[in-house]
Amino acid sequence: MASKKKKKVKNSKIPSGKIKCPDCEKIIEEGLTFCPECGNRIPPWAKFNPDSTPGIL
Ligand SMILES: [Zn+2]
Repeated sequence: MASKKKKKVKNSKIPSGKIKCPDCEKIIEEGLTFCPECGNRIPPWAKFNPDSTPGIL
């Protein structure tokens, strides 16, 4: 019998207080001007996690 196993899809949701660097895609602290991983300048739109500031849209 073939049973359908529901595989847990890895949710790439970013924890609140963190953002994903648009350049290297590492999870880093929000509000940083530069990515500590790649040194890329974080654009203003990417500086803050939208999940941690609900209601502003
Ligand atoms: Zn980066």
